Amino acid sequence: MRDWADKIAAGDIRALARAASVIENRGPETSTLLRELAPQAGRAVVVGVTGPPGAGKSTLVDALARLIRRQAKTLGIIAVDPTSNISGGAILGDRIRMQAHHNDPGVFIRSMATRGYVGGLARATADLALLLASSGKDFVIIETIGVGQDEVEVANVADVTVLVLVPGMGDDVQAIKAGIMEIADIFVINKADHPGAERVEQEIEGVLSLGHRPDGWMPPIVHTVATEEKGIDALLDAIEKYAALRRDAGVTNSTGAKYQLQNAESDLAAGGFTIDHLGIAVKSIERALGFYEGQLGMQVSLREAVPLEKVNVAMLPAGGPRIELLEPAEADSVIARFLAKRGEGLHHVALRVPDLDAVTGRLCAAGARLLNAPQTGAGGHRYVFIHPASTGGVLLELIEAKPTKFSDPMDEAR
Ligand code: ZN
Repeated sequence: MRDWADKIAAGDIRALARAASVIENRGPETSTLLRELAPQAGRAVVVGVTGPPGAGKSTLVDALARLIRRQAKTLGIIAVDPTSNISGGAILGDRIRMQAHHNDPGVFIRSMATRGYVGGLARATADLALLLASSGKDFVIIETIGVGQDEVEVANVADVTVLVLVPGMGDDVQAIKAGIMEIADIFVINKADHPGAERVEQEIEGVLSLGHRPDGWMPPIVHTVATEEKGIDALLDAIEKYAALRRDAGVTNSTGAKYQLQNAESDLAAGGFTIDHLGIAVKSIERALGFYEGQLGMQVSLREAVPLEKVNVAMLPAGGPRIELLEPAEADSVIARFLAKRGEGLHHVALRVPDLDAVTGRLCAAGARLLNAPQTGAGGHRYVFIHPASTGGVLLELIEAKPTKFSDPMDEAR
């Protein structure tokens, strides 16, 4: 059985799709997987395509994808979809686009909702970009919906940022947030056959004349008609030129490097300990979701049945950690006994720890009451439960942040 990360690097589409789901749901394997993938993410050019709604970004990205494929290169597309949510619309968006590139293993497409991600949209996008970049793709294209703060953050993930504008915007160019104008490496005037293209160009030149960039790059202005695939080769040319400039300046591997830096910093700050989730025992997940989803407005990212523990689980992302709703699947389960004795309420707190064996060894030596030896749970992560008598009255679950071996959970199930 090969390592999961190796499979992804080799371009295994199923391993890649499963990893994308894990990353979107921020499963406990996420950080380890990303850490393993980061060193191999450097080759891909990560392109951010942003601009106001109605600029024809999707059509432009599709045209770019076709050109890249004609050159026998591969790509991943991450589309941030305004109308979708994680469980529903994003999949529809995927299907529509999949038809255009159907049965082409050289294109991997993933749609993302604009909200509901643990740690925020920019973080989730960065992690997905890292995943696709490490899967041997030549290009990763991130397409955003608008030009707000989210887009600026998302664009920061990219090596090359393309800002798409259209004729008829005129003075509106000035109104586009200064931040996004400043981070644009390439300007595209799409629908350039429409009247007013020169006007937009003048507006852009006006903005560009205000200053010089430290890297010496003069952002080009490319005219395209995406619906007719016009100007796409000039755009790809500009993308490759700027990517080459960055490479020559030693600014490569931005996605992986940024990730490693971020994590080194956060690991240092927390000593490697993070809260993974809070487990809440409920009689009925449906009824509890009436509050968490219906009234509070949170969103479920994952639902599963765990037959081994006779429990049904619903995970709700909560800005890093998650809330885990636990419902007994059978009357003789641990959760059913907990409910009979204590009623609904906080069942356990789960902490991610850097080295489970080291921590449990330390705890055993100090006389803490472990409820089990480290064992492997759903998703392949290792965990231990500590009795409330040792922890100040709360059942504590310790999850290993860094499994020793990365296996593909689907292979284990087979
Ligand atoms: Zn738990």
